[in-house]
Amino acid sequence: MKRVLITGAAGFLGSHLCDRFIKEGYAVVAMDNLITGDLKNIEHLFPLKQFEFYNHDVSNFVHVSGNLDYIMHFASPASPIDYLKIPIQTLKVGSLGTHNLLGLAKAKGARMLIASTSEVYGDPDVHPQKEEYWGNVNPVGPRGVYDEAKRFQEAMTMAYHTYHGVETRIVRIFNTYGPRMRLNDGRVLPAFIGQALRGEDLTVFGDGSQTRSFCYVDDLVEGIYRLLHSDYAHPVNIGNPNEITIGEFAEEIIKLTGTNQKVIYKELPTDDPKKRRPDISLAKDILNWEPQVMRAEGLKITYEYFKSLTQEDLHKKEH
Ligand code: NAD
Ligand code: UDP
Repeated sequence: MKRVLITGAAGFLGSHLCDRFIKEGYAVVAMDNLITGDLKNIEHLFPLKQFEFYNHDVSNFVHVSGNLDYIMHFASPASPIDYLKIPIQTLKVGSLGTHNLLGLAKAKGARMLIASTSEVYGDPDVHPQKEEYWGNVNPVGPRGVYDEAKRFQEAMTMAYHTYHGVETRIVRIFNTYGPRMRLNDGRVLPAFIGQALRGEDLTVFGDGSQTRSFCYVDDLVEGIYRLLHSDYAHPVNIGNPNEITIGEFAEEIIKLTGTNQKVIYKELPTDDPKKRRPDISLAKDILNWEPQVMRAEGLKITYEYFKSLTQEDLHKKEH
């Protein structure tokens, strides 16, 4: 049985990866310090003998006994309000955490895949974003703690690949949504659906003309699974190229939820990217991958998930 270490396993994406690897017949070693994650996302896996969980901060030395075939490094605060609240931990997990895990990969002879992000392109002046684009990031702006940690993470990963011959994979993930997102993590989809469910107005930042391209989580996991098993060591965009303005997205959520609330406008956060859409020709070419789930379908499933949460979850304030 192949054995995979998944960091950030109690988070949104990490928990879906745990499910996928268990389904594929792997033994899963899950690791998380629960700083933004929730054990509820993986508790259904606890009874399985091929599933282990360790509560550990991967910015500190990481020890795993036994063999490891793969490491998936997904630990990191990921939503703007999270990484603005815990900026130093965000920088540490992208840099020190990545270094620790690359060291572990080298020691175990494991292949390591890192979760990078479309944020490495910053506020892009190339559209759509191709992997060759180097980005437009403000290192000292509020988002710099996340963007630069991820850029450093990519550089460190490539160095281990080049200088130590570690097998590495880099996925640049574009905005992904689905069940198990935290309702109060501040990202636009849970923010809008949470507001609709609580009977509050929907807060659009700026004039709503900025764009994003939303990918359903199952599509993302499929792309990542294929990338891990490919032989391609350079960064690969995985995301859904179907682009929408945030203003239009608010209208879609109003329709989906049937809320009587309206849109209100708030200040645009500093350095908020004006547009974002992945060019996925590389993923199509080398992984034979493209998204399958239309936004209408993915949003319906996600809305059902949020509706199933308790009133306590719905009204929980940020930690
Ligand atoms: P999330 O906040 O739901 O999950 C992150 C998990 O990492 C949490 O469970 C958290 O407790 C854990 N974690 C954070 N710091 C840790 C540390 N030092 N040690 C151990 N565990 C730690 O976020 P997510 O959306 O699931 O994102 C997962 C990864 O994917 C992140 O690396 C993020 O940068 C990347 N990513 C996500 C998206 C997206 O749209 N969801 C887009 C681009 C990149
Ligand atoms: N946004 C918004 N209202 C909210 C939360 C976010 O208009 O309540 C906007 C945000 O300014 C950004 C977009 O939605 O332009 C996506 O934000 P998110 O935090 O989900 O992710 P980002 O892509 O910015 O990392």
